[in-house]
Parts: sequence; structure tokens; C-alpha cells
Amino acid sequence: MMHILIVEDEIKLARLQMDYLNNAGFNTDFLINGLDVLPWLETNSTDLIILDLMLPGRDGLDICREIRTFSNTPIIIITARIEEIDRLLGLELGADDYICKPFSPREMVARVKTVLRRLPLNTLEPVLQTVNLILDPNRFKIITAEHEVELTTVEFKLLQTLYEQPGRIFSRAKLMDLIYRDQRVVSDRTIDSHIKKLRKKLTEILPNQELIHSVYGAGYYFEASIKIED
Ligand code: CA
Repeated sequence: MMHILIVEDEIKLARLQMDYLNNAGFNTDFLINGLDVLPWLETNSTDLIILDLMLPGRDGLDICREIRTFSNTPIIIITARIEEIDRLLGLELGADDYICKPFSPREMVARVKTVLRRLPLNTLEPVLQTVNLILDPNRFKIITAEHEVELTTVEFKLLQTLYEQPGRIFSRAKLMDLIYRDQRVVSDRTIDSHIKKLRKKLTEILPNQELIHSVYGAGYYFEASIKIED
């Protein structure tokens, strides 16, 4: 059973959060005072922390920053003001999500589940995760859970060709054939330059991941799994 730590000084709200999370199958604990969080974490472990910002003793921002110096435990920050979220994002606290008060407890449970789903199953070992890209042929876009990026027609066709048969190596000649149906004369370099641009766009949405691989003298292939380093 997964455990959630709730840090909230409005006791009624904390109880409500606990009720909903318990019903959803989570174990919970709650702390009222900001000063208790770090000592609690020294002797206990949790899978996710729901952290209110305005707390007696020590404020949530400070707590979040300190937790991030030694732990990647997911943190959902609760804030009382919607207009504060932009500022919080700018601070790059390393929080995994933000929820604004007042919120529905059901929505909170959904957000907790979403954050936990994003985690690799075992964060200690590098894991392989299949990349799920949605290719939208009507708008020439690639869409992931969090981002979307626009491609040119040629880039889109290249990606689609490689993505649909992961691991298969396509020669430059074959790619030119598939992409330039009108038999236009293009050089190998044209494919290379489109691939280069496509790779750049892919790193915008999946940084540090190489999805399109080149095989010297042979061509290109798409690798569907990426390695997630701890
Ligand atoms: Ca509060």
C-alpha cells in the first residue's frame, strides 16, 4: 500500500484529505506544524507529500527546497492563491504538481494518482520506458503527455515512417523514396538535415533522450524505449 504524507494546518481539511486518500487505498499520516516535516522524514518514509504552503513553524517553500536536497519523493504543493502558481513555477522548487484552494478532494486524489503514475516503478535502477508519442497527421504534430511540437510535412513523414516500425533500419534511399513520392531528386544530405531538425524538436519534448539513431553507412532507426536514469 502506498503512503501519503499530508502537511496541512487546517485540521478539518487534513481530515477530509485523509478520508478521501484512505478510501482510494492509500495509507496516510498528517502533520500540522512545518517544523515537524523534516524530523518526520528522518524516521519515516512516504511515497508522496501533499504540502500546504502557509504553515505554522516553517513555510512550505522552505520545506520543499530542503527536501529536494536529499530526496526525489513527489511533492504536491497546495496554495491558497491561484495567481501564485506562476510565481511558484518560476521558482523551480522541484514540486511535481500544484493544487489551488479550494479544491475538490476527488480532484486531489486524481492528481495524486497522476503524479504517482509518472514515476518509474523502481527509481533506483535505470528503467526502460516505452515512448508513447501521438502523431497527429492532420496537424503535423507530435504530442506527449505534457508537450506538443509542430513538424514540417517532411519531418512528420520521416518520424511516422521510423516510429511505426521501431528498430527497423531505413536507408536514406528508402526514406527518400517513401517521403518524396514525386521522384524529386534530392540528395542524401537532404534526409540528414531533416533528421537533424527532427531530432532537435524531439529533444524539446523529451530532453536528453535519443530516439532516432543512425547506423553508420546504413541509415536510421527509431528506438521505442528510452533509458531513464535515476
Ligand atoms: Ca495553511
